Amino acid sequence: MKKISIVIPAHNEEGNISLIHQRIKSVFSGLDNYNFEIIFVNDGSRDKTQLILEELASKNSEIKFIEFSRNFGHQPAVKAGLDFSDGNAVISMDADLQHPPELIPEMIQQWEDGFDVVLTNRKYPKEISYFKRKTSEGFYKLLSKISDVDLKKGGGSDFRLLDASVVEVFKNFTEDDLFLRGLTSWMGFRQTSVNFLAGERNAGESSYNIKKMMKFAFTGITAFSVKPLYLAAYLGFMFSALSVVGYGIYVVESFVSGTEISGWASLIMTIVFFGGLQLIILGIFGIYLGKIFKQVKERPNYIIRSKNL
Ligand code: UDP
Ligand code: MG
Repeated sequence: MKKISIVIPAHNEEGNISLIHQRIKSVFSGLDNYNFEIIFVNDGSRDKTQLILEELASKNSEIKFIEFSRNFGHQPAVKAGLDFSDGNAVISMDADLQHPPELIPEMIQQWEDGFDVVLTNRKYPKEISYFKRKTSEGFYKLLSKISDVDLKKGGGSDFRLLDASVVEVFKNFTEDDLFLRGLTSWMGFRQTSVNFLAGERNAGESSYNIKKMMKFAFTGITAFSVKPLYLAAYLGFMFSALSVVGYGIYVVESFVSGTEISGWASLIMTIVFFGGLQLIILGIFGIYLGKIFKQVKERPNYIIRSKNL
């Protein structure tokens, strides 16, 4: 019998845990040749998530849990699940049933056919907000363009199957600011993807707001590309060239007309413009500097308060 580990990060998911357990259980009752375990990672929930997990684990041997000491974020939660899994394949999915467990047999089939990584391609139904759909699509297009990883094909979802050999590689990663989607794509191996229809979250609220999404986007870009750092150099060259040309024109013009060129407003505008530009560039440098600062301290991605494995 092969063993499939299922990793589920859970942050305030009290209304979803029993249901997703039931759904996964019924999926596996239709699969004869596989054992399964579910590793819930309680990422600093403030509701009854931990209580429910402890109760569920005491009654069901396939339920395991890891409790973080505080909220560390979705990506570290998935990483923790991978670190403690020992299945022949590991599937990571969200707790809120936006990732349908019914897709698991198809993912396992692809894995049995020889693929090491089975990604999922999230297709949005009409009901999901236009804003979320477009920002998500746009982000992955932009990220693929400015970094060296291709995230267009199924990369934009944390619902995926990894072969044990790939999980082994993940376990050795010690980088801060994890961006697992990018890392998976970057790692290589034999990858494929299957489609699914993203549903609405079952119970509770999404933990991602605009601020978290922005942070996630910045993490994604800066973890995989140094191109923003070159921006300063490019813009610097461009504006230096422009100013030399402009300066030449003004000198010649003032000689020809014999009058001084006045223009207080345009002077201020130029100062403001370049002031802003310099702050932006400085900010970009700061983001990378901050990442180096965090990385050199080599703090762990997460801290475990209790676990049942
Ligand atoms: N999650 C987590 N830690 C966080 C935020 C979210 O472990 O700080 C989990 C959450 O419980 C869920 C998954 O990550 O299982 C996806 O989160 P959510 O549904 O809030 O995100 P969305 O689907 O809206 O992008
Ligand atoms: Mg969700």
